[in-house]
Amino acid sequence: MGYQENSRRRGKPNEGPLLLTDRPLACESTEFLVVGCGPAGATAAREAARAGIGTLVLERDAVVGSKRVCAAGLRPGFCETFDLPRRLIHCDTSRLALFDGQGDEHEIFFGPGHTSTREELDAAMADLAVREGAELRTQALFRAIGRDGANTVVEYADLANGVRRAVSARVVFFALGATARLEDASLGRIAMPRWRAGLMTTLQHRVYPAQPVAAIAYRTLELHYYASRDDRQIIAWMFPKRDHLAIGLGVMGKIDGEALRAELDAFAERVRARLYPTVTVAAVKTEGHLLYGGRARPCVSDGNVLVGGTAAGFVDATNGEGIFEAAMSGRFAADAAERAIRRGERAGARYAALVERRFVRRLARRMRLMRYLERRPRRFAALFAQLARTPGLGEVLLKEDCERTMSERLYLYREAVRFGFRSFACRD
Ligand SMILES: Cc1cc2nc3c(=O)[nH]c(=O)nc-3n(C[C@H](O)[C@H](O)[C@H](O)COP(=O)(O)OP(=O)(O)OC[C@H]3O[C@@H](n4cnc5c(N)ncnc54)[C@H](O)[C@@H]3O)c2cc1C
Repeated sequence: MGYQENSRRRGKPNEGPLLLTDRPLACESTEFLVVGCGPAGATAAREAARAGIGTLVLERDAVVGSKRVCAAGLRPGFCETFDLPRRLIHCDTSRLALFDGQGDEHEIFFGPGHTSTREELDAAMADLAVREGAELRTQALFRAIGRDGANTVVEYADLANGVRRAVSARVVFFALGATARLEDASLGRIAMPRWRAGLMTTLQHRVYPAQPVAAIAYRTLELHYYASRDDRQIIAWMFPKRDHLAIGLGVMGKIDGEALRAELDAFAERVRARLYPTVTVAAVKTEGHLLYGGRARPCVSDGNVLVGGTAAGFVDATNGEGIFEAAMSGRFAADAAERAIRRGERAGARYAALVERRFVRRLARRMRLMRYLERRPRRFAALFAQLARTPGLGEVLLKEDCERTMSERLYLYREAVRFGFRSFACRD
């Protein structure tokens, strides 16, 4: 295992008793330690605890989910896949509206997909983990990682009491989201030097209308792909909720705050003109966060240390979807932890194989597709037109490689060749 723990940077040996801080900390122990309680961490904790594994979760925020910035669009069947209550769903969205760079709308029917809010979703997932027996510690900020024989020791700041604490665990799952500073924590093979280059800046309005907006809005997920004023690729969205609309956008890299705000205001105005031109707006809440839009970490485990969700780069670059991948990686982490603890198997190897098989290759293809489309933006229109006039293609695309039948694979291959010919002819 290749951690360069803090002690080494301070010139202390990397072996022997753990000394992450200047003075030794009393160290408690657990079987499975989860760091971060978003969909990845909460799912891992719930499923490991359900299997009888001693599980502790460290979460930075005081209230789980209260600070998450997200459009919270969920793929069809999300609640069933992760055994979550239907009450979390705000709107069933059977319509996907894709807008190309010319503002033309391409309509696809699928699913239905769903919307929720992260306050509700994350709180429910954390609650279910606790009910299964996991211990959740909030206001616990991850600080450092080290080694104690076969175990991993994680040091965290107990923000409520202003003290540092340490936990030793057989298996550790990092699920810290896009702001994960795993490079700073020098997490051995997991660290990825180009992580920051894959970050996206996002900004979102939650618009609370005083009266209902156009009925079609409540059954539609809108995604818009167009160039910003300084010619960068923007992905923007309008996702409906019971009491508000999430209207936001994301752009790769850093962007000046005022410029981003101006882009969002211009986009929100176009949405307003289409969906609620005469409706009074009772309130608008604006929120921003980082998202990851680059390639997944080449290495998602090191020994019995695993990284999942957005912290591992498991986000679909074509649409920003990452909740499903986060929860699924949490499920795999719980499975790998259980096997390591009960049967002495290597957690890292099993976890890496499971995520690779399930979605890492798909995410890599999506990223290549996104970069291909961005090079000639008219390709977006060609792709969306093909999706709109080929019923069923969207459904097949939603499936993972391992879920597709041979005939679905051939069908996809044929459609990909068709798109290749059409997109080749695209000139901007
Ligand atoms: C604006 C926006 C819109 C999005 N819309 C969608 C969408 O519609 N559908 C979709 O599927 N995905 C969407 N995503 C992506 C989605 O939010 C993420 O992929 C998903 O949240 C990843 O889950 P996670 O569990 O990996 O990380 P997170 O949900 O980010 O959870 C990480 C947790 O770790 C905690 N944490 C962070 N640092 C520390 C620390 N040092 N110590 C302890 N705890 C820490 C955080 O407080 C948080 O609770 C969107 C993202 C953004 C920014």
